[in-house]
Amino acid sequence: MTLTSHVPFTYFIADLHLSADRNDINQCFFTFLREQAPHADALYVLGDLFEVWIGDDDKNDFTSSIAKAFNTLNQSGIPVYFIHGNRDFLIRERFAEQAGITLLPEQQVIDLYGEPTLIMHGDELCTKDIEYQAFRRKARSWWWPRLMLSLPLSLRRKLASKGRATSKQKQAKLSQEIMDVTSDEVIAFMRKFDVKRLIHGHTHRPAIHELEVDAIPAQRIVLGDWYEQGSLLKVSRESIELVSLQL
Ligand code: MN
Repeated sequence: MTLTSHVPFTYFIADLHLSADRNDINQCFFTFLREQAPHADALYVLGDLFEVWIGDDDKNDFTSSIAKAFNTLNQSGIPVYFIHGNRDFLIRERFAEQAGITLLPEQQVIDLYGEPTLIMHGDELCTKDIEYQAFRRKARSWWWPRLMLSLPLSLRRKLASKGRATSKQKQAKLSQEIMDVTSDEVIAFMRKFDVKRLIHGHTHRPAIHELEVDAIPAQRIVLGDWYEQGSLLKVSRESIELVSLQL
Protein backbone atom coordinates (compact mmCIF):
# COMPACT_ATOMS: atom_id res chain seq x y z
CA MET A 1 0.00 0.00 0.00
CA THR A 2 1.32 3.44 -0.85
CA LEU A 3 0.67 6.21 1.57
CA THR A 4 0.91 9.67 0.10
CA SER A 5 0.96 11.98 3.04
CA HIS A 6 0.59 15.66 2.42
CA VAL A 7 2.74 17.82 4.68
CA PRO A 8 1.18 21.29 4.89
CA PHE A 9 3.47 24.08 3.72
CA THR A 10 3.51 27.75 2.77
CA TYR A 11 5.26 29.49 -0.13
CA PHE A 12 7.09 32.82 0.04
CA ILE A 13 8.32 34.74 -3.01
CA ALA A 14 9.72 38.24 -3.60
CA ASP A 15 11.63 40.32 -6.11
CA LEU A 16 10.06 38.87 -9.25
CA HIS A 17 10.37 42.29 -10.89
CA LEU A 18 7.74 41.28 -13.43
CA SER A 19 7.45 43.33 -16.58
CA ALA A 20 5.80 42.86 -19.96
CA ASP A 21 9.19 42.47 -21.68
CA ARG A 22 10.40 39.47 -19.65
CA ASN A 23 8.16 36.75 -20.97
CA ASP A 24 10.49 34.00 -19.69
CA ILE A 25 9.98 35.14 -16.08
CA ASN A 26 6.27 35.66 -16.61
CA GLN A 27 5.81 32.13 -17.98
CA CYS A 28 7.82 30.65 -15.10
CA PHE A 29 5.62 32.57 -12.67
CA PHE A 30 2.36 31.50 -14.34
CA THR A 31 3.49 27.86 -14.30
CA PHE A 32 4.36 28.17 -10.60
CA LEU A 33 0.93 29.67 -9.81
CA ARG A 34 -0.86 27.00 -11.83
CA GLU A 35 1.08 23.88 -10.86
CA GLN A 36 2.82 24.38 -7.52
CA ALA A 37 1.07 27.13 -5.58
CA PRO A 38 -2.29 25.26 -5.43
CA HIS A 39 -0.65 22.67 -3.14
CA ALA A 40 0.32 25.28 -0.53
CA ASP A 41 -1.67 26.53 2.46
CA ALA A 42 -0.93 30.11 1.41
CA LEU A 43 1.29 32.23 -0.80
CA TYR A 44 3.08 35.31 0.52
CA VAL A 45 4.52 37.83 -1.93
CA LEU A 46 7.04 39.97 -0.05
CA GLY A 47 7.38 42.91 -2.41
CA ASP A 48 8.81 43.88 -5.77
CA LEU A 49 6.35 41.67 -7.59
CA PHE A 50 6.58 44.24 -10.38
CA GLU A 51 9.62 45.98 -11.80
CA VAL A 52 7.66 49.20 -11.58
CA TRP A 53 4.14 50.18 -10.55
CA ILE A 54 2.87 53.67 -11.26
CA GLY A 55 -0.72 53.21 -10.15
CA ASP A 56 -3.61 50.76 -10.29
CA ASP A 57 -5.11 52.86 -13.09
CA ASP A 58 -2.23 51.86 -15.41
CA LYS A 59 -4.22 48.86 -16.63
CA ASN A 60 -2.95 46.84 -19.57
CA ASP A 61 -2.96 43.25 -20.87
CA PHE A 62 0.16 42.43 -18.88
CA THR A 63 -1.07 43.59 -15.46
CA SER A 64 -4.49 42.05 -16.14
CA SER A 65 -2.87 38.68 -16.92
CA ILE A 66 -1.02 38.77 -13.59
CA ALA A 67 -4.19 39.74 -11.70
CA LYS A 68 -6.10 36.96 -13.42
CA ALA A 69 -3.48 34.33 -12.54
CA PHE A 70 -3.57 35.34 -8.86
CA ASN A 71 -7.32 35.38 -8.93
CA THR A 72 -7.48 31.83 -10.28
CA LEU A 73 -5.26 30.67 -7.42
CA ASN A 74 -7.32 32.58 -4.89
CA GLN A 75 -10.54 31.09 -6.32
CA SER A 76 -9.12 27.61 -5.77
CA GLY A 77 -8.97 28.43 -2.04
CA ILE A 78 -5.33 29.46 -1.61
CA PRO A 79 -5.02 32.85 0.11
CA VAL A 80 -2.44 35.22 -1.37
CA TYR A 81 -0.89 37.94 0.81
CA PHE A 82 1.15 40.87 -0.40
CA ILE A 83 3.65 43.24 1.24
CA HIS A 84 4.82 46.24 -0.81
CA GLY A 85 8.37 46.49 -2.10
CA ASN A 86 10.35 49.56 -3.08
CA ARG A 87 9.22 49.17 -6.73
CA ASP A 88 5.53 48.54 -6.26
CA PHE A 89 4.61 50.49 -3.12
CA LEU A 90 1.88 52.26 -5.12
CA ILE A 91 -0.21 49.10 -5.40
CA ARG A 92 -3.57 49.87 -3.86
CA GLU A 93 -6.84 48.15 -3.00
CA ARG A 94 -8.13 48.40 -6.58
CA PHE A 95 -5.46 46.07 -7.96
CA ALA A 96 -5.62 43.91 -4.83
CA GLU A 97 -9.34 43.34 -5.35
CA GLN A 98 -8.86 42.61 -9.02
CA ALA A 99 -6.17 40.04 -8.17
CA GLY A 100 -7.90 38.62 -5.10
CA ILE A 101 -4.86 39.30 -2.94
CA THR A 102 -4.73 40.71 0.59
CA LEU A 103 -2.50 43.73 1.24
CA LEU A 104 -0.56 43.50 4.50
CA PRO A 105 1.21 46.27 6.43
CA GLU A 106 4.95 46.77 5.82
CA GLN A 107 5.81 44.47 8.71
CA GLN A 108 3.62 41.59 9.80
CA VAL A 109 4.00 38.74 12.27
CA ILE A 110 2.38 35.50 11.15
CA ASP A 111 2.00 32.20 12.95
CA LEU A 112 3.94 29.83 10.72
CA TYR A 113 3.11 26.33 11.98
CA GLY A 114 3.58 27.43 15.56
CA GLU A 115 6.59 29.70 14.98
CA PRO A 116 5.87 33.45 15.18
CA THR A 117 7.53 34.79 12.03
CA LEU A 118 8.13 38.39 11.03
CA ILE A 119 7.75 39.07 7.31
CA MET A 120 8.70 42.23 5.40
CA HIS A 121 10.17 43.35 2.07
CA GLY A 122 13.48 44.13 3.77
CA ASP A 123 14.44 47.53 2.35
CA GLU A 124 13.78 48.96 5.84
CA LEU A 125 16.76 46.90 7.06
CA CYS A 126 19.24 48.57 4.69
CA THR A 127 19.75 51.63 6.85
CA LYS A 128 23.30 52.35 5.66
CA ASP A 129 21.83 53.73 2.45
CA ILE A 130 20.80 57.05 4.01
CA GLU A 131 19.59 58.63 0.79
CA TYR A 132 17.33 55.71 -0.01
CA GLN A 133 15.88 55.70 3.53
CA ALA A 134 14.97 59.37 3.10
CA PHE A 135 13.16 58.53 -0.14
CA ARG A 136 11.46 55.58 1.56
CA ARG A 137 10.07 57.81 4.31
CA LYS A 138 8.68 60.18 1.68
CA ALA A 139 7.28 57.34 -0.43
CA ARG A 140 5.50 55.91 2.61
CA SER A 141 4.12 59.25 3.81
CA TRP A 142 0.44 60.04 3.49
CA TRP A 143 0.97 62.93 1.07
CA TRP A 144 3.56 61.72 -1.47
CA PRO A 145 1.62 58.75 -2.89
CA ARG A 146 -1.49 60.93 -3.10
CA LEU A 147 0.42 63.59 -4.97
CA MET A 148 1.98 61.03 -7.34
CA LEU A 149 -1.29 59.25 -8.04
CA SER A 150 -2.99 62.55 -8.83
CA LEU A 151 -0.59 63.18 -11.73
CA PRO A 152 -1.49 62.10 -15.28
CA LEU A 153 -0.30 58.57 -16.16
CA SER A 154 2.00 59.84 -18.91
CA LEU A 155 3.84 62.07 -16.44
CA ARG A 156 4.04 59.30 -13.83
CA ARG A 157 5.55 57.02 -16.49
CA LYS A 158 8.23 59.63 -17.26
CA LEU A 159 8.99 60.24 -13.59
CA ALA A 160 9.27 56.51 -12.90
CA SER A 161 11.76 55.86 -15.69
CA LYS A 162 13.78 58.90 -14.69
CA GLY A 163 13.76 57.76 -11.06
CA ARG A 164 14.92 54.28 -12.04
CA ALA A 165 17.79 55.62 -14.15
CA THR A 166 18.98 57.78 -11.24
CA SER A 167 18.70 54.93 -8.75
CA LYS A 168 20.69 52.62 -11.08
CA GLN A 169 23.49 55.21 -11.24
CA LYS A 170 23.50 55.57 -7.48
CA GLN A 171 23.44 51.83 -6.84
CA ALA A 172 26.47 51.32 -9.09
CA LYS A 173 28.43 53.58 -6.76
CA LEU A 174 27.26 52.04 -3.49
CA SER A 175 29.34 49.31 -1.86
CA GLN A 176 27.97 45.79 -1.42
CA GLU A 177 28.00 46.39 2.32
CA ILE A 178 25.78 49.47 2.10
CA MET A 179 23.29 47.58 -0.05
CA ASP A 180 22.98 44.71 2.43
CA VAL A 181 21.01 44.71 5.66
CA THR A 182 22.36 46.32 8.84
CA SER A 183 22.81 43.56 11.44
CA ASP A 184 21.79 45.79 14.34
CA GLU A 185 18.60 46.69 12.49
CA VAL A 186 17.75 43.01 12.04
CA ILE A 187 18.16 42.41 15.77
CA ALA A 188 16.16 45.54 16.62
CA PHE A 189 13.22 44.47 14.44
CA MET A 190 13.23 40.92 15.80
CA ARG A 191 13.32 42.26 19.35
CA LYS A 192 10.55 44.78 18.67
CA PHE A 193 8.24 42.13 17.21
CA ASP A 194 9.41 39.47 19.69
CA VAL A 195 10.22 36.83 17.06
CA LYS A 196 13.07 34.40 16.47
CA ARG A 197 12.40 34.09 12.76
CA LEU A 198 12.47 36.76 10.06
CA ILE A 199 11.72 36.30 6.36
CA HIS A 200 12.47 39.06 3.84
CA GLY A 201 13.55 39.77 0.27
CA HIS A 202 14.98 42.88 -1.38
CA THR A 203 18.73 42.15 -1.18
CA HIS A 204 18.61 39.31 -3.74
CA ARG A 205 20.96 37.26 -1.55
CA PRO A 206 19.04 34.05 -0.85
CA ALA A 207 20.25 32.37 2.33
CA ILE A 208 19.26 31.01 5.70
CA HIS A 209 21.26 32.89 8.33
CA GLU A 210 21.59 31.57 11.86
CA LEU A 211 22.03 34.29 14.47
CA GLU A 212 21.30 35.07 18.10
CA VAL A 213 18.86 37.56 19.51
CA ASP A 214 19.47 38.15 23.22
CA ALA A 215 21.39 34.87 23.42
CA ILE A 216 18.53 32.90 21.88
CA PRO A 217 19.06 31.17 18.49
CA ALA A 218 17.25 32.94 15.67
CA GLN A 219 16.94 32.72 11.90
CA ARG A 220 16.90 35.27 9.09
CA ILE A 221 15.75 33.84 5.80
CA VAL A 222 16.38 35.84 2.63
CA LEU A 223 14.39 35.14 -0.53
CA GLY A 224 16.00 35.00 -3.95
CA ASP A 225 15.07 37.13 -6.96
CA TRP A 226 13.61 36.08 -10.31
CA TYR A 227 16.07 37.63 -12.75
CA GLU A 228 17.96 34.48 -13.82
CA GLN A 229 15.69 31.83 -12.25
CA GLY A 230 12.51 31.48 -10.27
CA SER A 231 13.04 31.51 -6.48
CA LEU A 232 10.76 30.01 -3.87
CA LEU A 233 10.85 29.54 -0.14
CA LYS A 234 8.88 26.55 1.07
CA VAL A 235 8.23 26.36 4.81
CA SER A 236 6.51 23.53 6.67
CA ARG A 237 6.51 22.68 10.37
CA GLU A 238 9.54 20.46 9.82
CA SER A 239 11.55 22.14 7.09
CA ILE A 240 12.68 25.36 5.44
CA GLU A 241 13.76 25.09 1.84
CA LEU A 242 14.97 27.60 -0.75
CA VAL A 243 14.07 26.29 -4.20
CA SER A 244 15.17 27.51 -7.65
CA LEU A 245 13.03 27.16 -10.76
CA GLN A 246 14.50 27.09 -14.24
CA LEU A 247 13.31 29.89 -16.48
MN1 MN B 1 13.37 45.65 -3.34
